[in-house]
Amino acid sequence: MALDDKRKRIFIKHKMCRFCADLSLKIDYKDPKTLAVFTTERGKIIPRRISGNCARHQRILALAIKRARNIALLPFTTAKVKIKEYREF
Ligand SMILES: [Zn+2]
Repeated sequence: MALDDKRKRIFIKHKMCRFCADLSLKIDYKDPKTLAVFTTERGKIIPRRISGNCARHQRILALAIKRARNIALLPFTTAKVKIKEYREF
């Protein structure tokens, strides 16, 4: 009984590649809105194990993101804005 409970907790729901699931979804480097979903706030590409994409689509996606970065549709990175307290000397 206890073992079954543990197994249920450990069980991870298998993520389906959303591009395989929905064939109408296209990966296009000229479409930054779709590509931005697969990048972090800092602009990094989200790994396959987290996004749930299949190997084929992850490769296509990574290429599209890199192309979009090159033509300035997506950021390579974002500058961390430091707000310094104003001090009077
Ligand atoms: Zn796929």
